[in-house]
Amino acid sequence: MRIEDGQIKLPKIGWVKVKAHRLVGGTIKTVTITKTSSGKYFVSILTEYENQVLPIVPKKFLGLDYAMNELFVSSTGKRANYPKYFRQVQNKLHRAQKKFSRSKRDSQNREKLRVILSCVYEKVTNRRKDFLQKLSTRPVNAYDAIAIEDLDLKAMAKRKRGGRFCFGKSISDNGWGIFTRILEYKLEWQGKSLVRIDKWYPSSQLCSVCGYQNSETKNLTVREWTCPKCGAHHDRDHNAAINIKNEGMKILA
Ligand SMILES: [Zn+2]
Repeated sequence: MRIEDGQIKLPKIGWVKVKAHRLVGGTIKTVTITKTSSGKYFVSILTEYENQVLPIVPKKFLGLDYAMNELFVSSTGKRANYPKYFRQVQNKLHRAQKKFSRSKRDSQNREKLRVILSCVYEKVTNRRKDFLQKLSTRPVNAYDAIAIEDLDLKAMAKRKRGGRFCFGKSISDNGWGIFTRILEYKLEWQGKSLVRIDKWYPSSQLCSVCGYQNSETKNLTVREWTCPKCGAHHDRDHNAAINIKNEGMKILA
């Protein structure tokens, strides 16, 4: 396999025009060609190179609390500001999906609608990936360890109904999973770590100031609360993120 002047030489196929996203370094291990359902081809090249990363002794910690609509709230009080864009496109997806399912089976029109639907879906997926990639860069560079809750995403995913073109929900559901995986490998590259906190750890119930456990916060509609023991006033998500950070520090100590 070779890449030269915007062309790639593939075994059995020969030279093909290609848009390379970055230079390929190291020893090539495998080459995978994939075709998306909208008809685009991608070549993924897996290479191997020597890269010894020494683990860092963590000094700066960050905690992230998963938040349904905004992705996360951090222990410094920052919100991820997950774009409303995804919501708007959900309607577009929904319309494309409806048109597709109403079309006649095995018709040319159906195939055309399928490609349109796939294109809308791909666009959303790519934009979301791009957003999450950019969002992860700053915390990974600024902190030595990031703690998150080990959410049961599989159980969460089961909640959505099946169906072949059930894209709408998967868009909002998968953001956190993709984001945490990006965090994990980016931290690893720098010898840093992602700490997963047990999902049963009561991060939203504990007062991050005195440690008092307030079971009233089990109610998800409680967005703010005052600790009955020490009087500290808490924003639900921010307080949880601080607890997650502290628990992460304990685990790594
Ligand atoms: Zn307290």
